[in-house]
Amino acid sequence: MKEIAADMAERPERGKVASYIPELAKIDPKKFGIVVIDDEGNVASGGDSEAPFSIQSISKVFTLTLALGKIGDKLWQRVGREPSGSAFNSIVQLEYEKGKPRNPFINAGAIAVTDVIVSGHQPRESLGEILHFVRFLAEDNSIKIDDEVAASEQRTGFRNSALANYMKSFGVLENPVHFTLGVYFHHCAIAMSCKQLAMAGRFLATNGINPSTDMSVVTPERAKRINSIMMMCGHYDGSGEFAYRVGLPGKSGVGGGILAIAPGKASIAVWSPGLDENGNSYLGRIALEQLTRRMGWSVFGV
Ligand code: GLU
Repeated sequence: MKEIAADMAERPERGKVASYIPELAKIDPKKFGIVVIDDEGNVASGGDSEAPFSIQSISKVFTLTLALGKIGDKLWQRVGREPSGSAFNSIVQLEYEKGKPRNPFINAGAIAVTDVIVSGHQPRESLGEILHFVRFLAEDNSIKIDDEVAASEQRTGFRNSALANYMKSFGVLENPVHFTLGVYFHHCAIAMSCKQLAMAGRFLATNGINPSTDMSVVTPERAKRINSIMMMCGHYDGSGEFAYRVGLPGKSGVGGGILAIAPGKASIAVWSPGLDENGNSYLGRIALEQLTRRMGWSVFGV
């Protein structure tokens, strides 16, 4: 990890930090962190591995897990599970598909998933449930929501409001749009370090079991399915390229983080704030490609 971090520190080409959420535009593009936690709990890290960053869309892995726990396969009546091939915030696909988002990881799909968690609760309770789940997985009660990032996104989230209102018109959302959006913006604004994120991802590398307690977080089958969706849909319209280069299930966020899972082997978190043209971490992907190549860890065995 130290060698990969040293290599990444020297790269002049680092992508562009997200600017459409003003608070994210302030982040130093030179940051880079990586943490690997293997199935026995050994931790290897490099770079800014303990610095918190905005996990953004990586939170969608945790909300998907919660929503599946809540309503099981009924979720798939409201959200699809096919790769989208379009941008993370595309509205055109929603119109073609009559308000049913293509998958749980594009923004529209994640907003629909959040709506499932909100149903039957006050927004504050739902947000508490999500934060509690993430803290439980990461075994770290210090994990917080960055209120300034949430407020920044709430102020400027016109596209997400459009997506939510559009879905509401088709009856895909059950709750008031501003309730669901408020929870969505806040869970995207959870701040975590690579270390905390890799901890939170462990259950996906170990057949759904929390390795510290041996308790089941999800069934092995559900862990498989969440990994499959990460593999196919975790990087928006860059999902094919990520699978081609890295060969692992992964989920990116516009804060520059990626959570990647080497099933049976390790949970991996990487952070570099500069993004490529699809909104995925530019150096994060390169670092993961190096890691899987050197360890022979892709799901395809090399
Ligand atoms: N909160 C971001 C948005 O809704 C998430 C996008 C991302 O991380 O890819 O625009």
